[in-house]
Amino acid sequence: MCNSCIDKGRRRFINGSVTGLAAGVLALSGWESRARAASVPPTTLTAEESLAKLKEGNAHYLAAPELCEAKLLKRREEVAQGQAPWATILTCADSRVPPELLFGGLNLGELFVCRNAGNTADVATLGTIEYGAEHLGSPLVVVMGHSRCGAVEAACEVAKNGITLPGFIGPMVDALLPAAKAELGKEGDFVANVVRENARLTAVKIASESEIVKHFIDEKKVKVVYAVYNLDTGAVDFIG
Ligand SMILES: [Zn+2]
Repeated sequence: MCNSCIDKGRRRFINGSVTGLAAGVLALSGWESRARAASVPPTTLTAEESLAKLKEGNAHYLAAPELCEAKLLKRREEVAQGQAPWATILTCADSRVPPELLFGGLNLGELFVCRNAGNTADVATLGTIEYGAEHLGSPLVVVMGHSRCGAVEAACEVAKNGITLPGFIGPMVDALLPAAKAELGKEGDFVANVVRENARLTAVKIASESEIVKHFIDEKKVKVVYAVYNLDTGAVDFIG
């Protein structure tokens, strides 16, 4: 993000409704100065344009996956001094769901990616998404679940049969229980329903609990949407 954008951002927040929080963020001088040193302007794409680009990329991946090649060396040199990603993706850690590939072979510096099993929004994830929006200028946040998600399957087992999971897996899966409990006993495939509902609830959480994201949504500078990736077909279904 360029100096003037950072200054504008600072003024906006200091004058705006989230003064304390944003001032705290900007007081992280290390981040701020690193962002300045990068001297990379944020993307000029709107949230709608970013969304269209993701859809186009996924269509390309479906139609001609062998053509999704990234020119990594050239691009690495181009982005080494700074980044201006045009979309933020929160998705599952599942090894079959790499966003850069399934959105058409995107290159270094294009997507700002958060991943954890079950694509939930814990404190680290919320902070990461805020950083992407506030400091890097990413206009779009996509929460993307996927079919047959193992974390979701575990949450369904907890909700249905009350099983106990070991270690930190238990508390991690707890974050998926609101979706699992909401879908328990409903028509259709339980796991598929929870995958969709969890993505929706996570998008709602990001848009409502993050004062920074909420502020950008109000200003129509950021959009939060949710989607489900189909492991079998490779298609991303943007639901809402
Ligand atoms: Zn998963």
